[in-house]
Amino acid sequence: MEEAVRATLQAQLLDRRQKLGSAMEESGEAAQLAHLLTEVDAALERLDSGSYGICRVCHDSIEERLLLADPLVQACLDHLTQPERRALERDLELAHAIQLKLLPRRSLGFGGWEVCYHFAPAGAVSGDYCDVVTPESAEGAMLVALGDVSGKGVAASMLMAHLNALVRTLAERREPLPKLVGQVNRAFCESTLPAHYATLVCGMAGPDGGLDLCNAGHVRPILLRGSNASPLPPGGLPVGLFCSAEFAVQSLSLGPGDSLVLYTDGLTEARDPAGDEYGADRLASVLGSLHALEPQALLSACLADHAAFRAGTPVSDDLTLLVLRRAA
Ligand SMILES: [Zn+2]
Repeated sequence: MEEAVRATLQAQLLDRRQKLGSAMEESGEAAQLAHLLTEVDAALERLDSGSYGICRVCHDSIEERLLLADPLVQACLDHLTQPERRALERDLELAHAIQLKLLPRRSLGFGGWEVCYHFAPAGAVSGDYCDVVTPESAEGAMLVALGDVSGKGVAASMLMAHLNALVRTLAERREPLPKLVGQVNRAFCESTLPAHYATLVCGMAGPDGGLDLCNAGHVRPILLRGSNASPLPPGGLPVGLFCSAEFAVQSLSLGPGDSLVLYTDGLTEARDPAGDEYGADRLASVLGSLHALEPQALLSACLADHAAFRAGTPVSDDLTLLVLRRAA
């Protein structure tokens, strides 16, 4: 078990222990709570003695995502009881539904811009983050944000929801973009565990075709002008690593028909059956050859090429792809 995961689980257990303690003081259901407290203490003891995370039936390691969803679980996925398994499935279905509600509309437009995207979790929930916020007035700029939270599964999806809330709340202050990303960084630093961070690209798309972009450690967006697809210069540090980090802005001007393509590394790091990576070069050349398509068709054609490349290899990472097009 990685040190970071162990730290997360220990923090969760200690937190539960404290909450149970205060609930017992206030509640009449002391017997049931006392039982839970015993279970939490037993888990903390197993964590100390090194026997934590071992299945009580087969003595293999319990899946990390299972432990992150329920730190008290004592059996691997194969050896959960039927009610345990059903409860876990229900939790994941609910988390999936909650996450989908956080996403913007599949296709939207504002001030001569069109945006569409594809969001595909590798499992029930995703650690990818994607949002579009249109301004209240026609002179305002539309916020487009895409990111990738460290880790996978339920824990990553919780951080994704947290990042979503931070960006939405702080964006309402209408500060310049580097300041917004700086504030998101600080808040994310202060409210997450040290091992947790997120890569993030934020763009402010104005009605005149101006596009300010801040890249916090995310894979390089691709600018598509005619058949010319070129990655933008690399950005700075991810958010959540250093509270005092500063973020630079890149100012672009998109003409009619130009697009900016944002994606997460689940797209470019996917492998074919021979083990080769899809890669940013192939993505750029595919985008260049498809540039004449409408955004939604471009998205679909790009994903079709990706699926053809993978040729059925299992999906191992969350994938998000977004096209922001200046209307022709
Ligand atoms: Zn087992």
